[in-house]
Amino acid sequence: MAKNIQAIRGMNDILPSDTPAWQYVEGVLRRVAAQYSYQEIRMPVLESTDLFKRSIGEVTDIVEKEMYTFDDRNGDSLTLRPEGTASCVRAGNEHGLLYNQIQRLWYLGPMFRHERPQKGRYRQFHQFGIEAFGMEGPDIDAEIILLTARLWQEFGIAEQVELQLNSLASNEARAAYREALREFLRAHEDGLDEDSKRRLDTNVLRVLDSKSPETQAILADAPKLSDYWDDESRAHFDGLCQRLDAAGIRYVLNERLVRGLDYYNRTVFEWVTTELGAQGTVCAGGRYDGLVEQLGGKATPAVGFAMGMERLVLLLEAQGKIPPSPTLDLYVMAVTPAAELNAPAVAEQIRTAQPQLRVQLHSGSQNIKKKLARADKSGATYALLVRDTDFELKHLRQREIEPVVLTSLSDLNLGVNG
Ligand code: ATP
Ligand code: MG
Repeated sequence: MAKNIQAIRGMNDILPSDTPAWQYVEGVLRRVAAQYSYQEIRMPVLESTDLFKRSIGEVTDIVEKEMYTFDDRNGDSLTLRPEGTASCVRAGNEHGLLYNQIQRLWYLGPMFRHERPQKGRYRQFHQFGIEAFGMEGPDIDAEIILLTARLWQEFGIAEQVELQLNSLASNEARAAYREALREFLRAHEDGLDEDSKRRLDTNVLRVLDSKSPETQAILADAPKLSDYWDDESRAHFDGLCQRLDAAGIRYVLNERLVRGLDYYNRTVFEWVTTELGAQGTVCAGGRYDGLVEQLGGKATPAVGFAMGMERLVLLLEAQGKIPPSPTLDLYVMAVTPAAELNAPAVAEQIRTAQPQLRVQLHSGSQNIKKKLARADKSGATYALLVRDTDFELKHLRQREIEPVVLTSLSDLNLGVNG
């Protein structure tokens, strides 16, 4: 027998038993995005490798070790997108969506990172993302955070997630802080974990979110980013906090929150849960005022976030918040030879007259007993037995309900409203 070919490690099939949960989640995301007047954008999954190198940053985890990069047949270096923001900005620049305009956009789709697969961390995963362009005030930062807060409400997990906020301030302020932090950490270099030692030169801010307890202990006395905030960034951050306060959104200030990507400035935030183990960040984002220009466009302020769909689905499942999927309403079967030919047309008539019903037509010519057994197994609430001149409607779940004979399909009423 031929050997089975298996899916690539870390790339999951989403099976029919799971797609209802995904469809539910996607439906809520689309609906809420529309409520806030965000429009969908769809970008290709493959882009030039340079796009990600220039935006995400050469010395980030993603670009250093997580990208799926290969040469295509023309010898061009291509990369399966590890995130959506860079592609969104590329598309916005390319099609003139950003210059001198306001755009509220959302996207949803697969992303690819070569990481060690584990619960909540995969090599193909899905993100729902929001990107808002052309608005520099803290009101738009507040808006996208309120949008996420509404999502948690809708999903019934508002109590399971915590909002963490920080400001990375201006590029100048951050540069000054970087120097101070580097100088401090140099003096304690021996106590740092290996990754952090390496990052001292390349990406010192990332040392702040090191998982090593020794490094974290050293960081307790490190200079604080907020001591380096510039006045405008401070005012911007205060403006955001005031708006969140007014809207009743709780948050905690996390001075160590720096995010893994180079392009962020000012506001950064994460929604974190303790219910998913180590992979606790469900949604992460921030402001990236420099990125549009860095990718060749005119300077345009921007802010956005990306939500990990797998983590969200896992959290909803763990909390029992996925609504039960709808069952089949009607199983249609012929029970006479003449009806055998007519049954597909009967099913069509029902689907036309009552589009809200889920109708399955029996396939194959077994005896009635076998057909009824299949009807039962299908999970349908009712079976419709098509006869030569009339129909018999049987309730499959409540045997005590007597079957009824219908002379016309217009008498069919299952009490299911659309
Ligand atoms: P992490 O610290 O967990 O690696 P990250 O900072 O690399 O996350 P982002 O680039 O900010 O993640 O992506 C936004 C969100 O996408 C994350 O908060 C998470 O929910 C989700 N995500 C990121 N990487 C993965 C992955 N490999 N598998 C599943 N979800 C992921
Ligand atoms: Mg990561």
